[in-house]
Amino acid sequence: MSNMATTSSSLVTSGQGAVAAPDQSFFDSLNAEVSDKGFLVTSSEDLFQWARTGSLWWMTFGLACCAVEMIHVNMPRYDMERFGAAPRASPRQSDVMIVAGTLCNKMAPALRKVYDQMSDPKYVISMGSCANGGGYYHYSYSVVRGCDRIVPVDIYIPGCPPTAEALLYGVMQLQRKIRRMGTLER
Ligand code: SF4
Repeated sequence: MSNMATTSSSLVTSGQGAVAAPDQSFFDSLNAEVSDKGFLVTSSEDLFQWARTGSLWWMTFGLACCAVEMIHVNMPRYDMERFGAAPRASPRQSDVMIVAGTLCNKMAPALRKVYDQMSDPKYVISMGSCANGGGYYHYSYSVVRGCDRIVPVDIYIPGCPPTAEALLYGVMQLQRKIRRMGTLER
């Protein structure tokens, strides 16, 4: 039992240091533990982290061309649902907002409203140069120079547009961040 607890904490280590990636030996020991005893023992913190990182339902906020790559990442080639990250059309059931595209002044209040309607804990990924800082339209009178002026951003993904792989990597980085930060307090 204590063996399992030790192994579990090495997967989703709660400390401040780097998070060790689970390797094959971890899954082997997990299998052996379940086969032997039929149940697992771990901390509630680790359990919540595991559940949250494995079910990042994302609120689609496709604003411009970057949204095409956001759609792409959910198609069969990249299949982001492998990571438990599935699109939701409702903010009330979403955990992470992906801001994909150019945020105009006119749209900013709607973005904030949708963000406010999401339940805690919630996260934001800023996707692409426009969302990160205005991009090509940085000096435009009508564009917000970074969506972090409207909502708190957890992960920035550079590029114009970022590739689908980059977004996938960003989601994985968010998972790492959630593990590092813990989930009971934010
Ligand atoms: S960063 Fe590039 S691809 Fe993305 S919305 Fe702006 S102009 Fe379009």
